[in-house]
Amino acid sequence: MGLQGQASKEWFQRASAALVNGVSSQFRYWGDDDTLVIEKGEGGYLVDVDGRRYLDLQCGFGPIILGHGDPAVSGAVAEAAGEASSFAMTQRREVEAAEKVMAALRWPSRMRFTNTGTEATMHAIRLARGMTGRDVIIKFEGQYHGMHDYVLFSTAGGPAGHMGSRFRPVPWQSSSGIPEAIRSYIRTLPYNDLDMVERTFKSEGGSIAAVIVEPMLGNAFGIMPADGYLAGLRRLCDEYGALLIFDEVKTGFRLGLGGAVAHFGVTPDIGTYAKAMGNGFPVAAIAMSDAVAEGWRRSGIAQAGTYSGNAVAAAAATATIDRLADGEAFRQIEATGTRMMEGLAKTLADRGIAGHVVGQPAMFSVFLAEEAPKEFRDVVNHDAETYDAVAMKMITKGVMPCPDALEPWFVCAAQTTDDAELAVEAFADSLDEVLAG
Ligand code: PMP
Repeated sequence: MGLQGQASKEWFQRASAALVNGVSSQFRYWGDDDTLVIEKGEGGYLVDVDGRRYLDLQCGFGPIILGHGDPAVSGAVAEAAGEASSFAMTQRREVEAAEKVMAALRWPSRMRFTNTGTEATMHAIRLARGMTGRDVIIKFEGQYHGMHDYVLFSTAGGPAGHMGSRFRPVPWQSSSGIPEAIRSYIRTLPYNDLDMVERTFKSEGGSIAAVIVEPMLGNAFGIMPADGYLAGLRRLCDEYGALLIFDEVKTGFRLGLGGAVAHFGVTPDIGTYAKAMGNGFPVAAIAMSDAVAEGWRRSGIAQAGTYSGNAVAAAAATATIDRLADGEAFRQIEATGTRMMEGLAKTLADRGIAGHVVGQPAMFSVFLAEEAPKEFRDVVNHDAETYDAVAMKMITKGVMPCPDALEPWFVCAAQTTDDAELAVEAFADSLDEVLAG
């Protein structure tokens, strides 16, 4: 179809001459004719280099929680950048930010900053292995925990059909370049199936260091945990002496100030946070229980990062959390997201189309099938062809969800219920056009 205007076309050619495929992250490449080049953000909107405006329902893959260019966050970042950057020592802004993070999350005893979600999950896994003296990690199909070798198996980018029998899942390697031996350290299980986790613990519990889980499946439609599922994981980890890691890179500071821990009422041993914690600036964290912090202090488990806790990242986190603290931003997101979810569901129902709007008002997806999904393997039932065509049409109408339904729609506090109406209208019109052929 070709989403690019003339300026995007020219900038993308320049991008491709400098960056591999014209992007710095593979998920941003939509093809040579459809990859847009962005000029700036304005609250809940994006403007591309052709001056076209889009309601931004990607929110940068989740980090934009307040809106683009939030004045309080940008102001704090500019002030910090003028005075400080990285030092070979702990700095005041880093301490203040850590206190804010801990007070917001409530459950951790200690934390450390990293720069990205990938670093946070990598360190969390090393910490779990170092604490338990075990090597194997359980992860769930369709979940994404970043780009390091230990977790790049059976992510949502892969075909569900390549993951083996549901009862004997095969870890599907999501990239070339991962040493074959790494596969032996991972067990990939269907999400929302506690029996499978229990069976795995029963047969090899002595080798399992940790279960790492996105508390809701933020990288595959926003599938929600079944009642008792997270509590069941907690119980099994306790029973078999493994650590429970919540990867809250998407849910943290998005499902509310306390993230998934507060939302679902289950507390992990280690939590990883990034994205919404800094409203788009690169800041992440590993948070942990007292027992893990104590074990880490006494052990030789390595963690470091030149830029970890830098002034800009710390200022972004402090200012973002300050802006989120009174709950107003979350109330706004709840109102906007709920209006969208209801409007989308009604649009499907009015047309007699089988489908479900899955997730939470802050992050949700449209799943086109009779049954709502419970795990990643259900994606084979989703009518991706129709959905993807609808999403591309929406973008031409100035409303931009991710064109791939696996990636949820994200809502930020700068968006309003009027924006929700706009999104629903664009969805309905696009759907009608696609159905009309
Ligand atoms: N964990 C989860 C749940 C994520 O969604 C992501 C990124 N989408 C990551 C980890 C990796 O974070 P980053 O891109 O900051 O490395």
